[in-house]
Amino acid sequence: MLIFPLINDQSRKIIHIDMDAFFAAVEERDNPDLQGKPVIIGADPRQTGGRGVVSTCNYQARKFGIHSAMSSKEAYERCPQAIFISGNYSKYRKIGRQLRDIFKRYTDLVEPLSIDEAYLDVTINKLGIKSAVKIARLIQKDIWDEHHLTCSAGVSYNKFLAKLASDFDKPHGLTLIMPEQAQEFLAQLPIEKFYGVGRQSVKKLHQLGVYKGEDLLKVPEMTLIDHFGRFGYDLYRKARGISNSPVKPDRIRKSVGSERTYGKLLYAENDIKAEISKNARRVANALVQNKKVGRIIVLKVRYADFSTLTKRTTLEQPTAEFEVIEGKAQEIFNSLEESSAGIRLLGVTVTGLTSGKTELLLDLRSENF
Ligand SMILES: [Mg+2]
Repeated sequence: MLIFPLINDQSRKIIHIDMDAFFAAVEERDNPDLQGKPVIIGADPRQTGGRGVVSTCNYQARKFGIHSAMSSKEAYERCPQAIFISGNYSKYRKIGRQLRDIFKRYTDLVEPLSIDEAYLDVTINKLGIKSAVKIARLIQKDIWDEHHLTCSAGVSYNKFLAKLASDFDKPHGLTLIMPEQAQEFLAQLPIEKFYGVGRQSVKKLHQLGVYKGEDLLKVPEMTLIDHFGRFGYDLYRKARGISNSPVKPDRIRKSVGSERTYGKLLYAENDIKAEISKNARRVANALVQNKKVGRIIVLKVRYADFSTLTKRTTLEQPTAEFEVIEGKAQEIFNSLEESSAGIRLLGVTVTGLTSGKTELLLDLRSENF
């Protein structure tokens, strides 16, 4: 039997910063009338005939059990007095960039996880500050002073624990997990809180009798690998507070995708095909804009019952061409087992990206000939 050695790198100082109810907090800041009221960023179901989902909501709204990804309709039913705002994403992105500039005062090792979250490796930092907790506090202060927004910070020796720590005491929290505390922290943690464990994995883990971190410790490494592959290998280590993946600055784009959720389920084949085509068009445009080509076309379909299917196909030659991407995506759709269920989401993604410069050059040249 193969034995994989356990190496636990505890030499690093990692901070995870996560803005508190980011979009809603920005709107509250810019519109004092909203303060103290439940605020939801998402389509107002009274204006869309019940369509739309909650993108984020403030802590007032969360008291009513509202959370992101809930349908706007349900949110409205839970809290009719909530204020729905459709959201100003270019404003949020701009603030996101400004936050990143704050992080970069301390270290260039900044890995954005989304518009309002990032990992920072401050083991060696620009100000020569020894304490990562002190840096986390300074960042919280900078963000408050300059943007009047709050964030939560997690500090530990790896990304996995830092992320769990930032989530531990929201909003406006600061949690430190020392190497000697990691095991205890993870033992009591429900398995669905382990970052990276999705709904499907939770189901499988429950079947294995795993509900908390401490249960995970009892499952042999090979069993986890048998059930989850590479992810099982990671899980075995994460249960022991081990996660050595580095903070990757300015992540290189690995895929370009477009997906849409439909408030009104799609049934007619014509509608479905038209939506696949629209997604393919957006992906092709983005690829050209980013001077990328990709070899793998992925179609994602989510049905009315939330069951989700992704299927991929690999091309001989990488492409950014709309016709090829669209054609392949439609082909994948045709190959799926027929279903009478309505479709609530369609997505087209191109991955396996490489720089498109050579192909673009060839195209230009062939036009000249
Ligand atoms: Mg956040």
